[in-house]
Parts: sequence; C-alpha cells; structure tokens
Amino acid sequence: MSFDASLEQVRRFTREVLIPAEQKLEDEAEVPAAIIQQMKDIGLFAISIPEAYGGLEFTQEQQVLLTFEFTQASAVYRSIFSTTIGLCSQALLDFGTDEQKETYLPGMAAGDIIGAFALTEPEAGSDAASLTTKAIRDGDSYVINGTKRYITNAPYAQVFLVMARTDPDSTGGSGISALLVDSGTPGLTVGPIPKMLGQTGSASTEVYFDDCRVPASALVGGQEGGGLRAALRGINHARTHVAATCVGQAMRLIDEMTDFAIQREQFGTPLADMPSIQNMIADSYAETQATRAMTLEAARAFDRAVAEGTPLPTTEIAAAKYFGSEMVSRVADRAVQIMGGAGFMEGNPITRMYRDTRLFRIFEGASQVQQRNIARDVVARRRRA
Ligand SMILES: Cc1cc2nc3c(=O)[nH]c(=O)nc-3n(C[C@H](O)[C@H](O)[C@H](O)COP(=O)(O)OP(=O)(O)OC[C@H]3O[C@@H](n4cnc5c(N)ncnc54)[C@H](O)[C@@H]3O)c2cc1C
Repeated sequence: MSFDASLEQVRRFTREVLIPAEQKLEDEAEVPAAIIQQMKDIGLFAISIPEAYGGLEFTQEQQVLLTFEFTQASAVYRSIFSTTIGLCSQALLDFGTDEQKETYLPGMAAGDIIGAFALTEPEAGSDAASLTTKAIRDGDSYVINGTKRYITNAPYAQVFLVMARTDPDSTGGSGISALLVDSGTPGLTVGPIPKMLGQTGSASTEVYFDDCRVPASALVGGQEGGGLRAALRGINHARTHVAATCVGQAMRLIDEMTDFAIQREQFGTPLADMPSIQNMIADSYAETQATRAMTLEAARAFDRAVAEGTPLPTTEIAAAKYFGSEMVSRVADRAVQIMGGAGFMEGNPITRMYRDTRLFRIFEGASQVQQRNIARDVVARRRRA
C-alpha cells in the first residue's frame, strides 16, 4: 500500500474506530480483541519492518507522520504495538542473525508475534548498565536468572528481547548481551498486571527468569556482548515515536480544550473569547507545532543516518523526546485548567489524558536523563570544536 493511502486509512480508523472506543477501553482496562485485529489488518504492526519480511517499510519520517494521527486517540492503543515495531524489531533488524530475522520479523509485521523489551530491573532503571540478570552459557544453552520490571506487553508477548549479563564478572555496559526468549519457555513467568496512574489497559509487569534455559541460538547476532547497543537501537527508534506520540496527544488535547472553551460560558462570554484562556490555547498550539517540527527533523536525520550508515542522531532524538514529553504535560495541565471543576471529574478525555501523558516524561529515558545526555553531547561538541 502507498504511504498516502495508508495515512488516509489510519486517519479514518482513528476517527471512526479508535476514538469512539476509548471510554470502553478505559472502563474495561483492555483493548478489545476486534480492534487489535483491525490494527493488524491495516498494518500498524508493519510500519517499521522491511518489505522483505512482510512489512510496509515506511521511512522514520513516514512512521512519525502516521504516529501523529493514531496517537490523537488514547495512547494505550499505541502501547500494544509499540514494543514490537520499535524496541524489539529494530534491534533485531540491525543486530540479529539472518535466521533470527526470518524467524521473528514476518510474524511481528503481521502482528502475530508481539515482542516485549526486557531491560529495566528493580535496581537498574535509568542506570540500565548496572543490570544484574545473568545468562550463563552451559553447553549449547544459556541459563537465565533475574527479574525484570515494568515490561510492557509482557502478558501478551510471544517473544522477549532480554538484556542479560553473559559475562558474570563484568560490570557496566560490557558483558551484557541480548537474547530472544520465547514465551512459554520453562522458567519464564510474568507477574500480575499492576494498577497504574494512567494508560489503563496497557500492561507493564514484572518478568521472572528462574533457571530459564534457552538454546545458544537465542543470542542476538550470535555473539556475546553488545546487548546495550542493540537495546539502544530499539530505544532511539522508540524515543522518536514517543516524541511523535506527544504531538498527537497534544493535538487532541487542543481540540478538546478548544471545544470546551467554545461551549462553556461564564460572565455571559464563551471561555474561548477570554484573553487568558486564549493564551493557554495559543501556548499549547505553538509548543505543539514546535515539537512537531523537532520530531520531523529528528526523523529525517534518522533516515539519513540509516541510508548513509552513520550514527543515529541521538541528541536530536533526545531533544525531541524531552521537549515533547514536557510539552504535552503542560498542554494537558492547561486543558484541565480550562475545564475548571469538570476537568477534575472522571469520564472525559482530558482528565484521562492528563494521567496518560504523565508517563512520557518517565519512560524511554526520564527527562533528567535526556537533559544529562543532551548537555554532555553539546559540551563535548564544543570541546572538539
Ligand atoms: C508504564 C511503564 C512502562 C515501561 N515499559 C518498559 C519496557 O517495556 N521495558 C523496559 O525495559 N522498561 C520499561 N519501563 C521502564 C522505564 O524505562 C524506567 O521506569 C525508566 O527508565 C526510569 O527508571 P526508574 O523507574 O527505575 O527510575 P530511576 O532510574 O530510579 O529514576 C528516578 C528519578 O531519578 C532521576 N534520575 C535517575 N538518574 C539520574 C541522573 N543521573 N541524574 C539526574 N536524575 C536522575 C530520574 O530522572 C527520575 O526522575 C517502563 C516504565 C513504565 C513506568
């Protein structure tokens, strides 16, 4: 399918299917199976995967343009396929063996194989390089022991991309490898779905590895080490999409806050005609446009880097993710303010989105970590200049 046709289809799907089903999703804490099937049918699991593996092979810029559309609906829909299209498939594409790509990528593109990305641990969050999960070679196998935390889609996943220490004596980033662990492997168990502040219907659970034995062929790329590099490949793809998600969510919030401000009157005047309310709408619009431009620019730089085989524009991606996630929280806060007391009551999109958008400042690298990484790179560039 051409990109333009896909964009139009996704726009219609968002308007006619995803948005109308949001409240049901929130009430039942589950994306209906029929909608997941429709997401597969229109190719949402396939956008980042090459045609050779049954995907749509859209550029990062095209993926971002699509993300601006479908994330105008609840961000929970995106969470269902985000770990597959970004974190897992992209690491596999760049670092997997041919056999691993053949085994997993066609199923991922079809939405039949959900990937879960297992990096974070109870004692290793922002400092992922301090992870302690071990995968120890034993003959033709690796035996995995450890606990992962907040693993999105773990209850639904067919495969886990697990970052674990294959060199038990190593510290820091070295000695960490990536392994593909099929769900159902003895020794792998998934914890209960925790209640969260927002994004109800998305599942981010603990995952336990207890003498979980996988064949040596599960090692991504067939070589020990480099696990964090593979993880970062997926993370940088996902961060770009999170920035785009913040744009989509902010666009929706602006529509909702503006509609409310037009119909609500106080002092005989619609809120929409009051200067201090207009300032909030204007600031939200301007900041959303700025993030949109930053995200598209980062996506284009991403595409150039992939085409030229140069390093990904990690600082531009970090800046878009950082600015976008802080921006959408400000927009959500203004939207609640414009609604007044109604914004504090449940049962409307703005209140739900105020909670949902809070996550974007925390996952895929919290804001403080993005600030640190951006500043380090800016300083290093000046020192080299
Ligand atoms: C809903 C949800 C889904 C998730 N999905 C996944 C997933 O699918 N797979 C996965 O592997 N992980 C996942 N995560 C984990 C997520 O990436 C981490 O929560 C995140 O990296 C932060 O780690 P932490 O929660 O341990 O916080 P911490 O690292 O303990 O940080 C706590 C606070 O300290 C700040 N901080 C930390 N280090 C520094 C520093 N050097 N300088 C300044 N401030 C600092 C942070 O910014 C934050 O504000 C998910 C998390 C959530 C909440």
